[in-house]
Amino acid sequence: MEQIVIGNLLDDATSQFRPGRILLEGTHIAALEWGHFGPGEGSLYRPESFIAPGFIELQINGGLGYDFTTQPEAVFDVAAILPRWGVTSFLPTIITSPATTYLHALAVIGAAMGRTEGTQILGVHLEGPFLNPHYRGVHNPAWLQLPALEKVKAILDAGPLRLFTIAPELQDATKVINFLQQQGVLVSMGHSAATYEQTLTGHKAGALYATHLFNAMLPLHQREPGLAGAVLTLPEVKAGIIVDGIHLHPAVVKLAYQSKGAVGLNLVTDAMAGMGMPPGRYELSGQGVKVDKESARLDNSVGTLAGSILTLDRAIRNMQKWSGCSLAEAIQMVTRNPAQLLNLERKGRLVPHYDADLVVLDREGEVEMTFVKGQQVFPNLRQLA
Ligand code: ZN
Repeated sequence: MEQIVIGNLLDDATSQFRPGRILLEGTHIAALEWGHFGPGEGSLYRPESFIAPGFIELQINGGLGYDFTTQPEAVFDVAAILPRWGVTSFLPTIITSPATTYLHALAVIGAAMGRTEGTQILGVHLEGPFLNPHYRGVHNPAWLQLPALEKVKAILDAGPLRLFTIAPELQDATKVINFLQQQGVLVSMGHSAATYEQTLTGHKAGALYATHLFNAMLPLHQREPGLAGAVLTLPEVKAGIIVDGIHLHPAVVKLAYQSKGAVGLNLVTDAMAGMGMPPGRYELSGQGVKVDKESARLDNSVGTLAGSILTLDRAIRNMQKWSGCSLAEAIQMVTRNPAQLLNLERKGRLVPHYDADLVVLDREGEVEMTFVKGQQVFPNLRQLA
């Protein structure tokens, strides 16, 4: 099937929006043409709208009341709803849990790959269990483990591991980092007390990413910059950030942008079961979480953050507002950057031969329409019914 969408297209060469039209043929982008076109010169006429590559989400624990770690079969339901927020592919994220739980989740999600309606699954992000107990955040300390190669081999055998978060300072962590990097897995540093030097060691072993920069790591200190200071100053290491206004102060979002630039950041939601749901009580990896209108927290004395209820389209709008970046730059942080991190050859850019994964945004940055591999998946008839 052939479709032609007219609007302001993200120009891959200049990273700016320009009027034009994009031709979709079957599952792929066939061509882009620049200039002003009339309503009769395309199948979809949106001259006021912005047309961007589909968003790629690297960290999402669940949504719609479901938790991927304990209910991995819910990836089908969540994949069906994610196009509403512009997400066209994602890494369901499994967090620290008993080995039987995370190995089962990897297998179930592996079996779901290629079979979801709506958003596509790219693989699994496993966050834990090799994390530092002092920076565990919401991760249950009972299930944290020390790194070991045989455990990692069991993980690789169980399912499609694509991204692995580990604290690089733990004993034998560098062996695990090095091994996974050789297996083509993106290794990320996080939930960690790593010093600046330990971060460099982790990076040299093959870690190229940091999980939710600033959250669950040593704070930036003038004599010990830690993981955060190392990542801010190392252009080779990219960083995920949660821009919900709760996890990071707006000024810290700006600091991250000014240090890393648009090429160095990746927006994630870290969303949990309460995403897309009314306030109430939900679960994250078997723990009770209280969700209000803005945040998700454990019911303990300090109210430990337990993921978020952020959506990726809102993260883009927040990023623009707080960092001063352009819409095109914020979109790069959920398209081209994650595609490069995962070595995706046909996603994250509007260029010929790439997958026809598109998001149409209105002037306010709200998602109007989403296409996955040339199919309109939002709004769709089932959701409108
Ligand atoms: Zn985390």
